[in-house]
Parts: sequence; C-alpha cells; structure tokens
Amino acid sequence: MTQETKPKQTREFQAETKQLLDLMVHSIYTNREIFLRELISNASDAIDKVRFESLTNSALLEGNSDFEIFLVPDETTHTLTISDNGMGMTYEEVVENIGTIAKSGTKAFLAKLKEKETSPDQELIGQFGVGFYSAFMVAEKVTLLTRAPGEANGIRWESTGDGTYTIEECDKEQRGTTIILTLKEEFRTAEENFLHTYTLQSLVKKYSDYIRYPIKMNVTKEEQPKDADGKPIEGADAVKTIEVRTLNSMTPLWAKNKNEITREEYDSFYKDLFHDWENPLEVIHSKAEGTVEYTSLLYLPARAPFDLYDRDATGGIRLYSKHIFIMEKCQDLLPEYLRFVRGLVDSPDFSLNISRELLQHSKQLKLIGKNLEKSVLKTLENLLSKDRPQYESFWKEFGQALKIGVYSDYQSRDKLKGLLLFPSSHSADGLTSLDEYVGRMPEKQKVIYYATGKDRSSVERLPQMELLKEKGVEVLFLFDRVDEFTIDALQEFKEKKFQSISRGDLQLDDLESPEAKQDAESLSKENEPLLQAIKEKLSGKITDVKISSRLKSSAVCLVSDNNGISLSMEQILAEMNKAPFKASRILELNPHHEVFTALKKVYETDPTATAFTDYCDLLYTQALLIEGILPDDPIGFANKVANLMAHSGK
Ligand code: ADP
Ligand code: MG
Repeated sequence: MTQETKPKQTREFQAETKQLLDLMVHSIYTNREIFLRELISNASDAIDKVRFESLTNSALLEGNSDFEIFLVPDETTHTLTISDNGMGMTYEEVVENIGTIAKSGTKAFLAKLKEKETSPDQELIGQFGVGFYSAFMVAEKVTLLTRAPGEANGIRWESTGDGTYTIEECDKEQRGTTIILTLKEEFRTAEENFLHTYTLQSLVKKYSDYIRYPIKMNVTKEEQPKDADGKPIEGADAVKTIEVRTLNSMTPLWAKNKNEITREEYDSFYKDLFHDWENPLEVIHSKAEGTVEYTSLLYLPARAPFDLYDRDATGGIRLYSKHIFIMEKCQDLLPEYLRFVRGLVDSPDFSLNISRELLQHSKQLKLIGKNLEKSVLKTLENLLSKDRPQYESFWKEFGQALKIGVYSDYQSRDKLKGLLLFPSSHSADGLTSLDEYVGRMPEKQKVIYYATGKDRSSVERLPQMELLKEKGVEVLFLFDRVDEFTIDALQEFKEKKFQSISRGDLQLDDLESPEAKQDAESLSKENEPLLQAIKEKLSGKITDVKISSRLKSSAVCLVSDNNGISLSMEQILAEMNKAPFKASRILELNPHHEVFTALKKVYETDPTATAFTDYCDLLYTQALLIEGILPDDPIGFANKVANLMAHSGK
C-alpha cells in the first residue's frame, strides 16, 4: 500500500465499557457459548445493511454479492475466526461502535446493575444481549479487521479486554469484518472446545439456524480408501478431504411450518430480532393465501417498554418481501391501540423498494392489517377465556393501550369492550370483565356502578360508597386516570348504562325500600329553608344542596350531576391545563348525622351569625377534601377547625 496509513494508537475504553468488559472477562456467566450467536448476528446485520443500501447504490457491493459468514477454527493458533462480507466499518465507526457504549441494551444492563448495587448474578447477565463484548467471555484477545466498501484501507482493532485497545489502519482485501478470537485455555479443553467443528456446528444450529445468509465452515472428511469393488482397503491411511459446509438451514423461522417450530425457537428469535431480554407472552404465527398472500409472525411482549405511551415512540411491524427485509417499523399495518405488538409480515406482494408513501395507500397492506388486527384480538379473547392469569399479566402491561383505544378510536370501541378489566368491590384482589360484572348483577339492578379514586382503600372509604356497600351492590373501581374517559366513551355495556357513584341519582329505586325513598323526600321538604340558606352561603362554590340518600355514616359528600364532566375528570383536566371545564358541585348532607342536627340548631338560633357561615364552609371544605381536592383557602379552613376545637373544649 503506497498510501499513508494512520499509525497505531492505544486508546482507553470509555468508563462504562471498561466496567462491562471487566464483567465479561470475570463473569461467572455459565452460558458463555452465546458469544457465537452475538457475533454471527452482528455479521448478519452488517450484511443486511450492505445489501439494503446496495439497492440504491450497487457500487457498494464491489462486485461481491455472494453474501456469507465464514467460521474458521484453527487448532494451531488457538483462534476462531468469524468473517463476513457485510458493511464493515470506517475508522470512526470502529471507535464509535466498539469503543463506547451507544447501545441501549448495554446501557440498560449497566443501569440495572447500578440499581441492584450487587455483583451481577447469572440471571441478570443472561437477560441482556451484550453483543460484541461477549467475545471477551471466551477470548483472551480479540482482533477485529474491517473495511467499509469504497475505503482504500482497512482497520485493525485489538484488545485483551484490560481497559485499552489499539487501533491502526491496515490492508484488507475483502469488504466486511473479520473477528479473530484467541481463545482462553479453558475453552480449548476436552469438555468445552470452541475449535471443534462439531461444537461449532451444533451451536450454529441451536442459535443461528434462521440467519438468512449461509454460515460456512471447512469441514474435514476422513475416508478410508476403497478398492475397485468399493470395499475399504485395509491398512491404508485414511484420505482427508476438505469440503465447505453450510451449517444453517437459512430458512427464516417464519417460513417454516408451525409444527416444526418449538416455543424456544420462537422465543429466541423474538429476543434476537427485537432486542428484548424477556420471552414474549404470546406468539401468533399465521400464513394466508388468496386475495393477499403473506406470512405473519406477531408477538405480544411480556413487558411494556418504558416509552410505549410516548407520542413520538414508534411501534410498528417489520416488513419483508420473499424473506428479504424491506422496512423496520411499518406503522400502517396495525391500529394505534395495538402499538405494543411486535413482529413481522412477509408478503411477495410488496416490492423491495416500496416507499412509505406508497405503502400507506396500498390495498394489500390494508387487507393484511385488518387480518392481523382480527387475529390479535382473537388471541386476546382466547387468552381471557382460557388463561386468565396470563391475560391479567398482559392486561397489567398493556391494558392502558386498549383503554385508550376505546376512547380515541371510535371504530374499535365495540371490539375492545369485552377485553377490558377493572378492579371491583366483588373481590379484594381480582379483576373483573364487564361481562362478569353484568352476569352478577341482580335482576333489579339497572346500571353498572363505578367509583373513581386513587386506590382501593380511598375508594372503599368514600362516603358515596356507603349505601351501595350496605346493599351489597358491586362497584367497579377506576384507579387509572384514563379509566373514566374509557367508561364515558362506552356509555353502556349490554344495554346497561354506566353510573358513577358520585354523580346524579344513584338509580337505586328498585333496590331501595319505598320507605327510605319517602324519608328522603319528606326530609327535603321539611328542611327546605335550611338547604336554601346553605346554598346562598356557598353560592359560587356549589350548584345545589340536597338531602342525601346515599350516605350512611358520613356527614357530607360532594357529587356532580349526570351532565357535563365529573369532579375527578375536572381534576385530571386541570392537571392537563384544560381548566375551563368545570363539574357541577352538589353538596349532599346526611340528615341522620349529628352534624346535621348541630347545623340545624346553629341555623335556627341565628341564621345570620358567623357560626352558621363557618359551619357551611367547614362542611363544604370537608366534602372537597374527601374528593382529594385542596380547598382554595386551606389556612381559613384550619383556623375555623381550630376555633371549633377550642370552643368545644371549653
Ligand atoms: P448491537 O448489535 O446490538 O448494535 P453489538 O455490541 O453487538 O450491539 O455491536 C455494536 C455495534 O458494532 C453494532 O451496532 C455495529 O455497528 C458494530 N458491529 C459489530 N459487529 C459488526 C460487524 N461484523 N460488521 C459491522 N459492524 C459491526
Ligand atoms: Mg449485536
């Protein structure tokens, strides 16, 4: 090479990388064989990259388009070499990709370690794909040679995993990357030897069988020479011939028959492709022929990613055409509410360089999308009816997406309502579906009751719950802030309307005795002047004052009528800075409570005295506090309470 090359430099790894390397080198990780899967997967990614980019720039191929990954074990040098003719890396890319930790999986791994503040256990390491660095689990030295297409020089990078690496320019004929592992002694023993062709063959089968490119290796065949009749010649030395063998079947997993695929294979494919470290909850693999032809492999992940509900985070399905990768995240396939579904669609009907624009208008895509949506919903319905614990664990992670779907996607409302789960007063820890709730409703109950609040104990203690509890009426508990929007959007289920326990008339008529109803009515009439006076005192704050029929042992509560929004929604909207929406506020008083008697006495003694004004204020503020709403004037409230305490102590 006449060109000047960059001289050899020794550099330090980034601190985090050092930490990780140290872990790799000294790890107690048992499953060290996965290093091969990681390196092969990187090679395959790099070939994907060059092939994809060559669609628009064929010069990148440099005339070499027989994509392959080659393994060379060498017993004399104790090295295992893994080469690919993929995209390779430039000098800067090597420094960037190999010297630092840019990768989210690795970062998450380190974050998890910090969080735990203990030494890493095997399980923890096993959960994360740690990629390239896993080479240091088995190698005392890692040498990487690489050349990006179009570059005159290659790069040689080397490290023993001790915190530094060297980097220099070098000659490299073939485009792509070659990784040479000088194996630690313990991996060249009789029990575990990563230089044995048999071991390598089975590792490739185990972890990398579906890799789309041939993974090749020279395999030595020994044959006893034969005579003219085909009989082995005794005493003659065996003849060794070398043949190139392709170790993987290359058929992508999704193209195989369902009955030939084990759950483990589905799982490891998922983890590899979607960089998840947990097995998926459910796999949906289907093939369709007819109007549209496609194969789809969809997964319900076990856990929601932290950014699932982030507007800018992109869900989406991978697209392939005849096994060839087209697009990473196609968002037009599944409705927004299924954004958590991961997976791929392979259809010969898509052309390889179809644009996102064209895709959006593609009839085939719409048809496939409809089918996928159907099959995901079907899977969820089955899960709900056949494997409740599994469904609940799905619900815990992704229920919110479905709930948002109900109120943001009008067309999906009916498809989703049967899948909703809520906690309820029926059992202390279980969840109920709307179907189950309705199934338990006594014939006389007309509506589905729900209560909103921050958690079970606060809802169970709401004054508005008292009567319902006494009557043994089941109430759904809405703790999630999207719940009420969902219920509001549904309006009814199986012709039963939803009724908040804090709004309007409880419609308990048929459950309530006629006497109790009469009681409330006559008490209202009897106390008309008092109620009117309270309403005037609290004018501007409340819309009405009523004798309550829902309270049993509490003195007051605040409810709103059935029009407009509820108090809890008002709070949520206020937090979202949508303050102009106000709920109506109706103060309900328990006529059988001692406080009511006291209030009446104060009123009758002197309706103009400040004592009466104070009582009204105190009652209203209490009602607010029960709803979790801070009074406008907390200091005034505290002073009044203090006053009252001082007086009663006298
Ligand atoms: P990941 O594959 O998840 O990105 P790795 O640690 O396995 O993480 O690899 C880090 C980066 O190094 C890759 O993203 C890629 O840019 C680069 N890389 C690793 N191996 C190769 C290779 N064989 N050819 C080209 N680039 C590679
Ligand atoms: Mg990788």
